[in-house]
Amino acid sequence: MRVRLRNPDRTVEVEGPCTVAELLDHLDVLPHTVLVLNDRALVTADHLLPADAEVEVRPVISGGAEGAPRCAVCRAPAVLEERRHRAAWCADHLADHVQNQIRKAIDHPPGLPAGERMCSYADRLLVAVSGGKDSLALWDALTEMGYRVDGLYVGLGIGGYSERSREVCAAFAAERGLDLHVVELAEEYGYTTPSGAGAAGRSTCGVCGLSKRYAFNRVAVDHGYDVLATGHNLDDEAATLLGNVLRWQESFLARQHPVLPATGANQVRKIKPMYRLSERESAAYCVVRGIDYVVEECPLVDGNTGHELKAAFDLLEAASPGLKAQFLFGFYDRQDRLVDPRAEEEVELAECGSCGMPTTGAVCAFCRQRELIVQALPVRTGAS
Ligand code: SF4
Ligand SMILES: [Zn+2]
Ligand SMILES: [Zn+2]
Repeated sequence: MRVRLRNPDRTVEVEGPCTVAELLDHLDVLPHTVLVLNDRALVTADHLLPADAEVEVRPVISGGAEGAPRCAVCRAPAVLEERRHRAAWCADHLADHVQNQIRKAIDHPPGLPAGERMCSYADRLLVAVSGGKDSLALWDALTEMGYRVDGLYVGLGIGGYSERSREVCAAFAAERGLDLHVVELAEEYGYTTPSGAGAAGRSTCGVCGLSKRYAFNRVAVDHGYDVLATGHNLDDEAATLLGNVLRWQESFLARQHPVLPATGANQVRKIKPMYRLSERESAAYCVVRGIDYVVEECPLVDGNTGHELKAAFDLLEAASPGLKAQFLFGFYDRQDRLVDPRAEEEVELAECGSCGMPTTGAVCAFCRQRELIVQALPVRTGAS
């Protein structure tokens, strides 16, 4: 069906038939903030819209133009306005909104059969925390929602930035009585991301990304966790998708999903429960929940191409609020039709001859990279 949304004016295609309530839930629109018209006639929440319906969703609550914005739920003065949702919230209802979006992501992951969830309350969850807003917001929200979840911080050795990040994660865990694993690359593997990148002649973000992914999976496997959760948000995932589309990286497109199942031994399921939330929403959640996070960005972020795509996408989002969500969620809704599953190479996984973790070759990419690094480094700084 064709759905016309107003302020700003835009049209989206949504698969039908579905009820008005289901449509609004799909579009993340709060029902009492809009009128819904089908063929120019008003319709209520339980009205069934046919697959070829022409629908208009017309906002009825004005934003900031006519005075201070008010909470969409309780009408108290709002602390955050999101043009994408055409809504604003007070502090309490903002926290509810963020947790509801995480709940929705976990309970109804896109493209999976109904009833299949990202994780269950019986699972042992490990959340990878960097000290930034997204991962700490996620740890807080999952804990509040009653999940069994511990944290993992990987020390990258990026000077004062890494020291402050570690302190913030440790303080977060201590204040809430939560368990935090800490892995320092220098102590555990004998290099930091800057020294490793220099020694291997590779980009810092490349060495960093591979090291983090390895350490996340390794700690999750070694400590018997069922699920690894990361704080990737809507802005991250939309920028990644844009990059994969711009370069037509079909195997990456086939694999880009907020739930990646474990496909063999020594792997855990990986989930991204923040994919429905913008950076702004996650930062505001930290503020209203009293979460102290590292506001500064990694000083090496300029080498990260995802960062440039994010900045470019921000320009488009400013001109057309909701575009990022439309792009990402629309992709997930159509992923099985758009991407040939054969693009995801069928690979035989074996155990790495050096560390035992899954690999497609004899020795895993992490061990090969590490070997290259420690051979080139003048002094090995830590344990073997
Ligand atoms: S910006 Fe690059 S080096 Fe810094 S934390 Fe991210 S991936 Fe690592
Ligand atoms: Zn409120
Ligand atoms: Zn290995």
